[in-house]
Formats: sequence, structure tokens, C-alpha cells
Amino acid sequence: MEVALKIDVDTHRGLGEGVPRLADLLKAEGVSATFFVAMGPDNSGRAIWRAFKNPGFISKMRRTRAASMYGVRTILSGTLLPPRAIALAFPQILRDLVRMGFELGVHGYDHVRWQDHLDDLGESGISTEIDDGLEVYRAVTGTPARSFAAPGWRANAASLKILDAKGLAYHSDTRGYAPYRCAVHGAIMHTPEIPTTLPTMDEVMGTEGLHSAAAIVQFYLAQFSESGLNVHTIHAETEGRSQLETLAAIVRGLRERGARFVRLDEIAQRLSMAELPVCEVTRTVLPGRAGWVSTQGEKRGEKSEK
Ligand SMILES: [Zn+2]
Repeated sequence: MEVALKIDVDTHRGLGEGVPRLADLLKAEGVSATFFVAMGPDNSGRAIWRAFKNPGFISKMRRTRAASMYGVRTILSGTLLPPRAIALAFPQILRDLVRMGFELGVHGYDHVRWQDHLDDLGESGISTEIDDGLEVYRAVTGTPARSFAAPGWRANAASLKILDAKGLAYHSDTRGYAPYRCAVHGAIMHTPEIPTTLPTMDEVMGTEGLHSAAAIVQFYLAQFSESGLNVHTIHAETEGRSQLETLAAIVRGLRERGARFVRLDEIAQRLSMAELPVCEVTRTVLPGRAGWVSTQGEKRGEKSEK
């Protein structure tokens, strides 16, 4: 069994507090992983406040203990208090990840702007988000980024087209079941897409009624596929903080089953463009997650170039 842990870092606190803990845990367990960091400002407070309009939000806040999970400073970031930087506040943490052998990629620039406004940004707005993210990555690491993960698993025709021109080894923008090439509005992209295949822990905690760590661990260990692609997205804000021990138990359970942990760029390296299926990128709604996500749709009959 092969497992790729994809760690999304959306906030200042997630990078400053969650990532070092996750890196220490994974290093101690001898596990490799891929970190995707939002390179711009932390406006997560805006998203959390906006969600107050949502019926059922208060009960979800309570159920997931959002204040302790995100921290009050995060909830205020970009609202009552100015947004804090994410990557640029902790450049050394990013360089340490690379030095420790983890893969580092770009999780957009302004996570909240991308997730909430992708379809309103237009080509130039999306270009700016992508370019700014790639630029900060280069400034911090000294090398060009090779991978991108769309904030909130949201992609559209413009974002995929712009990313396709960046010479990336792959992107991980959608939910799905196997690597593929994205087809959207009749255009077929050349950059491989490696989708997230498992539900995230915050989705599972919100919908499956799994309240104990043991129940969550048991749920996950039954989800991983023996032979197929396993890409499990982790949030530095969740597994890196209140759910660190739960993640540790999942990692140990997987190791006992003989799982091999790989970085997403290792999977990308093995892909053969000629054999990669072309699939439509569609939109769906997932249990436990607000709004739409991009998902791997139907496979195209022909694999010809456009
Ligand atoms: Zn994210």
C-alpha cells in the first residue's frame, strides 16, 4: 500500500505552530510527505465570520470547537485585526521542511480570496494569485515551485489554463480517485493532476459522528486502498494542533499494515503522459464541507491531443 500525505497550510498559526509539530512527528516516524503552503496573507478570519451567515454554523463551531482549533487571533485575522503573513512570517520553517526532505509546494496566495471568489477573479485576477504565490515560493526557497494545490479544491477553466503554462511537475487541485489530465470547456491540459482521494478529518468529524480519536483512526484505516492511489489531505490547523495524536495513530496503523509513504512529486515522476486518462473536471458538494469542490469527472473516450 502506498500513501501520500498532502498537508495544506492555510493560516499563520497553522504554519507557525502546526507545521513544526507535524514535521517532528513525521520525521520521528520516518514518513515523507508534501506540504502546500498559502504564500500570501492570512484572511482566514473573514471566511470564518462570513460563515456566521450560514445556518448551522454555530453548532458546527461548537462541534468542532473552532475557537480552540483555529485560535481567536486567527478568527480575527483580516477582520478586526489586519491580516498576518503566512509564508513570509516563517521563511525558516519552509526552508527547514525542504532541508528535512519534505516536498514543498504552493497552496495559492490569498487562500480566502481564491476559495471564495475564484469565479469572480477573472483571468488576470487568477494570474496574479498564481504568480504571487510562485514568486513568494521562489523568494523563500531560492528555487522555482514545481507543484501547486488549489485552495479549497477549487479550480476553473482559467486557473487550470494558467497553471498549465507554468511548467509544473503536477498539480493537486481536485478530489478524485486516480491521476489524470484535466479537460475543461473542451481544452485538455498537459500538467498531470493528482487528486485527493480521501475525505479530510474535519469533514469526517462533522458528518460521520466520530467523536473519539479511536473511532476516527478506525474509520481511516478502513478507507485506504491496498492497490489504488491514496492521497490524504491533512490540515496543519487541525491535525497539526488538536488532532496530532489522532494523526500519529493513523500513521502508525498504516505503518503496521506495511504502507509506504511517498511524496506527491514521486508519484508525478512515475506518470506516463501517454497513459494518463483525460477526465472532465466537474463540481460537486461533499458531506461536511461548505460549498463546491472540483472533482474528477467522467473519463474521455479518446486520449488525443486537443
Ligand atoms: Zn487550504
